[in-house]
Amino acid sequence: MGGLPEVAFLGRSNVGKSSLINALAGKRGLAFTSNTPGRTQSINFYRIDGNLHFVDLPGYGYAQVPLATKAEWAKLIEYYLRERSSLKLSFLILDARRGWMEKDLELKEWLEVNNRPYVVVASKIDKLNQAEQQRGLKAIRQHAEPLPFSAVTGRGVREIWQAITKTHQLQ
Ligand code: GDP
Repeated sequence: MGGLPEVAFLGRSNVGKSSLINALAGKRGLAFTSNTPGRTQSINFYRIDGNLHFVDLPGYGYAQVPLATKAEWAKLIEYYLRERSSLKLSFLILDARRGWMEKDLELKEWLEVNNRPYVVVASKIDKLNQAEQQRGLKAIRQHAEPLPFSAVTGRGVREIWQAITKTHQLQ
């Protein structure tokens, strides 16, 4: 698994993480490569274009998940985010309708403390009308500039890929 640069995807359960990964991968030949087994959750790696891994980290924030499982999630994610030298960029995905939730803010601060570069994505933007979009994006901007995204319309795919490419070129 080592070697190839990695781009990680983080977000609350149901935020649209899988849809984002699929939209970005598009015809680029997404190939599931391996996973690191956990008790109930795992980290999935997808090889993209033969020279990059997308890393699908388990979603967080299901209220009904028992505390022990949450602790395990935190351990797995924190270990990966802290130790992984091939990790180049993380996407922190927010639902454009909901904006920042407490866990998202915790994760954002954690990424900053650990000097991990990240980009915020405002997902499901198609579910909002123009006025709602402006309000939603403005609220998210209080903490970070988001890239609006929709898996339905494809809005944002190009900008998100540009962010990945830019990070790549900086290495
Ligand atoms: P995950 O649990 O974060 O991986 O979320 P999924 O990608 O499975 O998406 C959760 C639900 O939201 C599914 O019903 C998706 O069809 C829906 N969804 C995801 N992204 C979008 C989007 O951009 N627009 C709309 N309208 N629905 C979306």
